Amino acid sequence: MIAEVIVDVAVSEVDRIFDYDCPFEVSRGMRVLVPFGRTQTEGFVMGLKDSTLLPADKIKSVISVLDKTPVITEEMFDLLAFMTGKLHLLNVDVLRLFIPSAMRGGRVKELTRQYARLNEEYRYKDPAEYTRPNALAQFELLEYLTTGKPEGELVSELTKNFSASALRNLAERGIIEITSAEIMRKPYAQVTPEKKKGITLTDEQARAVEEITSASGQTFVLHGVTGSGKTEVYMHCIEKSLEKNRTAIMLVPEISLTPQALSAFRARFGDDVAILHSGLSHGERFDEWRKCLSGEARVVLGARSAVFAPLKNLGVIIIDEEHDSSYVSDRTPRYSTEEVARYRVEYNGANLVLGSATPSVETYHSAVTGKYRLLELTGRVNKRPLPEIEVVNMCREIALGNNSIFSTALQRELDDCVSKGNQAMLFLNRRGYASFVMCKACGYVAKCDRCDVSLVYHREEQRLKCHYCGNMYTTLDICPNCGSPFMKEGYIGTEKVARLLKELYPGVGVLRMDNDTTRGKDAHARILSEFAQKKAQILVGTQMIAKGHDFPDVTLVGILDADMSLHMADYRSTERTYQLTTQVAGRAGRALQTGRVILQTYAPTHYVYEYVRKGDYKGFYEKEINLREVTKYPPFATIVRVMVSGTDEKKASEVLKNVYLDIGGIKEKNPDKFLYFAYMRAPLKKIMDEFRMQILLRLTTDSEGVIDEVYNVVNRHRAQSVTSYVEVNPIKLS
Ligand code: ADP
Ligand code: ZN
Ligand code: ZN
Repeated sequence: MIAEVIVDVAVSEVDRIFDYDCPFEVSRGMRVLVPFGRTQTEGFVMGLKDSTLLPADKIKSVISVLDKTPVITEEMFDLLAFMTGKLHLLNVDVLRLFIPSAMRGGRVKELTRQYARLNEEYRYKDPAEYTRPNALAQFELLEYLTTGKPEGELVSELTKNFSASALRNLAERGIIEITSAEIMRKPYAQVTPEKKKGITLTDEQARAVEEITSASGQTFVLHGVTGSGKTEVYMHCIEKSLEKNRTAIMLVPEISLTPQALSAFRARFGDDVAILHSGLSHGERFDEWRKCLSGEARVVLGARSAVFAPLKNLGVIIIDEEHDSSYVSDRTPRYSTEEVARYRVEYNGANLVLGSATPSVETYHSAVTGKYRLLELTGRVNKRPLPEIEVVNMCREIALGNNSIFSTALQRELDDCVSKGNQAMLFLNRRGYASFVMCKACGYVAKCDRCDVSLVYHREEQRLKCHYCGNMYTTLDICPNCGSPFMKEGYIGTEKVARLLKELYPGVGVLRMDNDTTRGKDAHARILSEFAQKKAQILVGTQMIAKGHDFPDVTLVGILDADMSLHMADYRSTERTYQLTTQVAGRAGRALQTGRVILQTYAPTHYVYEYVRKGDYKGFYEKEINLREVTKYPPFATIVRVMVSGTDEKKASEVLKNVYLDIGGIKEKNPDKFLYFAYMRAPLKKIMDEFRMQILLRLTTDSEGVIDEVYNVVNRHRAQSVTSYVEVNPIKLS
């Protein structure tokens, strides 16, 4: 038998089928160990055949078969072809997405436990017949085991209380039998299901469920403010899917995958649920993934990569918070979760549900124009009003002599909230203490040696940090350029806000949640649970605090600098601002007490804030879509970026030039498809010693052929130590 193998080596030159002779029984979709060059490597069996064109003396043999059953299903082989074809990815890069990373190289195994039990023959014999009288430890153990469980006792437990050498001795003599059995690891075993009862769907919810479950192969956009009951709709769709003997995947942004969410799912679906995300240990992930493959789990709750869960016969895929940027992979292999999900639902005749309170403009446009089906939940289930949003002009605050990060209005509300014993959340999307340090005398700004960005001051650690490469530097007392001792701090970050609050409200608990305070495995959950238990009245954080948490006593939300995402040179910046501020605002007044939001801005007349204030998504959408149409931005055009980077600036720009010239050739043949075409340095000119430059294209929406050619051009000009890749409608343009 000849096995066709893709080797697990991510180099384009070897990303093709190699034939191996296989003396073992093997199936397509299993992994094998094969000789490759001078070493051995793992590989994926793509197919089997009887003969090969390779001469007999050239053909090598498979060394061993690594799986008992195929780990790549037929559906995944189809998806592989789609992803390599459309996104020009390497086979091996895509195949790696399909299995838990630690399975490669055998870094994770089934967990087995050893059990000890008394051999049947000896069960009713007197131990004195076969044990020396002075072997007390053996007597003790035997006595315990005669009354033990029939399946035996866990060896690891036994040896805590009994002599391990006695056990060994008796086992060697066949008096005790040792068996091993596999056990499944269970992530978050301590999370207990929390049963919600007595929910009758509202008319709108029921109609949404009905429309989704009676369709097939369709994409739905479920638009509803937070608290409008979207999750309830998802759960019903999953239930209906299970009733039809089909499976379901529910994706949420990594950060929303909280123990509460899991608990709700366990309550509803019991052991049918597998959970897949990066917080699991390798072993847990491996077991959860195998539960999907074997059919033991029929519902997956997970973050982005769970879209590849090996469930068979999918009935529905749900992407919650579909506008979230974490659904687009911005590392190799680059893919959009929605695109993968759409492929899988079409393959299975299943349905895709994209849910959000603030859908991306492109998604909503597809819904409005009939490509997707639009489902709306118009109000909150419990009829709670949305919080009242006050927009505060920070320029005016300065004019009135208030230079603090807290406006007068926010201070007033904070005082009120704290004195009433309620809770507040303050949002600032900038971590650290100060965004940069600058010399007042000569204007010198401390920058990273490896990246073209200014360093952020972290006070607690007394360090300057680069947020791109993580490099740390000592703080500056005097300017290294001119020696002046007058250093000025830039925009304040979460660390400073927390410190200011502690000064303003001594004795009131303040928690901070950002990348710096959530390093440890459970740090994130710990901060949230402390806040939920009201161990602190104020929570300060970056966009981490914006997502789905439900704190009933939060009556005040402060958005300290709403404009941060507004000024990015990116066509999505207004949309992002709308989404982020709306999401943060939605944290207020979730339960009985009405919430209040103070939104601080230096651009109070910008149209986005008027729509945010009114909670008018449709109004915002209309305005935004008109702008996009006039200026020809997505969804009315496609943006393609070719990024080229390398430590050798000259070599990288050489590649850039050649790619640019070849794309120029494509343009000459398709002049009407090109709306814009230029090359330039990337906004972040250098990261981790790599110089970054880019080619930007704006194409008409019917340019798939051109995009294909662009990929080909980039692949043709690959060079040593230069990285280049193509992004279509990139999520970030930095
Ligand atoms: P969303 O996902 O849109 O933010 P959820 O589905 O989480 O909203 O619903 C918000 C709250 O309302 C939850 O506590 C949920 O249990 C409750 N809820 C949802 N639908 C109903 C219903 N039909 N009747 C009563 N309570 C409901
Ligand atoms: Zn200076
Ligand atoms: Zn750096």
